[in-house]
Amino acid sequence: MKRPDRLILVLGDQLSPGISSLRDAEPGRDVVLICEAMEECAYAPHHKKKIAFVLAAMRHFADELRAGGWRVDYVHLDADGNTGSITGDLARAVERWRPRRIVVTEPGEWRLRDALERWEAPGGVPLAIREDDRFLCSHAAFRDWAEGRKSLRMEHFYRMMRRRTGLLMDGDAPCGGHWNFDAENRKPATGDLAFPARRAVEPDATTRAVLDLVAERFADNFGRLEPFGFAVTRADAERALADFVRDALPRFGDYQDAMLAGEPALYHSVLSGYLNIGLLDPLAVCRAVEAAYRDGHAPLNAVEGFVRQVLGWREFVRGLYWREMPEYAGRNALGAERPLPWFYWTGETEMACLSAAIAQTRDEAYAHHIQRLMLTGTFAMLAGVDPRAVHEWYLGVYFDAFEWVELPNVLGMSQFADGGLLASKPYAASGAYVNRMSDYCGTCRYDVGQRTGPDACPFNALYWDFLVRNRNKLKANHRLGPVYRNWDRMDAGKRRALRKRARDLLGNLEAL
Ligand code: FAD
Ligand code: SF4
Repeated sequence: MKRPDRLILVLGDQLSPGISSLRDAEPGRDVVLICEAMEECAYAPHHKKKIAFVLAAMRHFADELRAGGWRVDYVHLDADGNTGSITGDLARAVERWRPRRIVVTEPGEWRLRDALERWEAPGGVPLAIREDDRFLCSHAAFRDWAEGRKSLRMEHFYRMMRRRTGLLMDGDAPCGGHWNFDAENRKPATGDLAFPARRAVEPDATTRAVLDLVAERFADNFGRLEPFGFAVTRADAERALADFVRDALPRFGDYQDAMLAGEPALYHSVLSGYLNIGLLDPLAVCRAVEAAYRDGHAPLNAVEGFVRQVLGWREFVRGLYWREMPEYAGRNALGAERPLPWFYWTGETEMACLSAAIAQTRDEAYAHHIQRLMLTGTFAMLAGVDPRAVHEWYLGVYFDAFEWVELPNVLGMSQFADGGLLASKPYAASGAYVNRMSDYCGTCRYDVGQRTGPDACPFNALYWDFLVRNRNKLKANHRLGPVYRNWDRMDAGKRRALRKRARDLLGNLEAL
């Protein structure tokens, strides 16, 4: 077979035909290498559905490229000689093809980028690592923006990005005269709301083969494999986007923070996985959502709320990740050291809110933002769980989990383990928040109205105990001033009872 000019390595989250590594390549001249590597399937405790999602999408992407005339060298997980690692199989492919050069778009995770940067190709074939310009803010643009700022706040970054992209701008001014409509987006959901039905994609033969492989090779991994309904092709991901814009977007804003038992997604998009592996393009998604506002189909609070997540938060956490890694992964500003309670893997807890969020995670490999942040996230922080254990759990259990986006959300936003680099205050809350935003408390064995005693909602005492335990580290945070004043005004007996209840809970977390 003709010796290629380039061997182009495409990774499992780089499934975009326009990706920088492919841009000036030629189907007849170059070869695309796609490898299923055991190391990538096993470096975190991945959910079965997540492994199946990525592998099935990789195989479909290879078919898409072949249909476009590309020569694709696809290494299956169980292929003879598969070395189990990306660099191992890249080396084998270099020996097989003897290319003049190797091209790859930078991996999304520090771990793999570091491995590729240190790697030496057989025969000294040069390796070019190109920037991933599927993101809307380059590393250099983020560094420029961050340079010299005392604190990095998403809201300021987001405004810069709105101006740069022109999204939701009327000339120089934000649409509707405000940058942010978040205050309108905090309605609790009620049982009488109608939620859009979600399209489940029927697995085709390619996906079915992957499901069989995952069932056999990853039988002991966390999570339920079937039914499996994620989109694994660009066409199906685009259908999911169109469904979302038509059916859910108009109410996305109003109920963005709401939680309801038995409703995993409410009006959320469930597009994160498709964005993260490259089946959808973030700018195209934002433009589709903006068009719904301009056409009068969806209100501004919904559309701005959605654009802020993708253009603001998604780009912001990525910029922060690359700026702070690798040191960021080891941060533990609050010195939290407890192991993750076992019920995070089973859902077997009498706390109805956590049980529901974890069972949903086990079944769907999906939970929406507030479930991740204010249930599993807040509880782990209040209980003083080691942020590395929390990070490992989140990196494994969601279909959209890739370290560049997961780590800042977990370590920074949900655990405050970066000491406030990402969030201006810890997302600490008592059971009252959960009760206001969800219907979980009504069926719970614990009483959200009680603060102490064996039936009291565990969030209540743990909330106060967390604040008091970490007072020295948090007291300078002006947003927490009123909370500490409330504590200081509280009757001494009540304070003692709250701390005792917290001690009892922390001494026996597994029994909750
Ligand atoms: P929607 O609510 O419909 O939001 C639209 C899109 O905005 C999402 O698809 C996503 O691409 C983007 N988005 C929303 N919030 C964020 C955010 N905080 N950071 C980055 N992008 C955002 N997101 C991931 O993609 N992968 C993760 O591994 C991940 N881990 C998280 C862990 C924790 C503790 C928290 C608090 C958040 C995490 N997020 C993660 C962010 C967010 O929760 C998910 O993107 C979102 O829940 C995905 O569901 P959706 O597509 O229905 O989102
Ligand atoms: Fe969760 Fe407490 Fe409500 Fe139970 S009472 S569902 S533990 S917030």
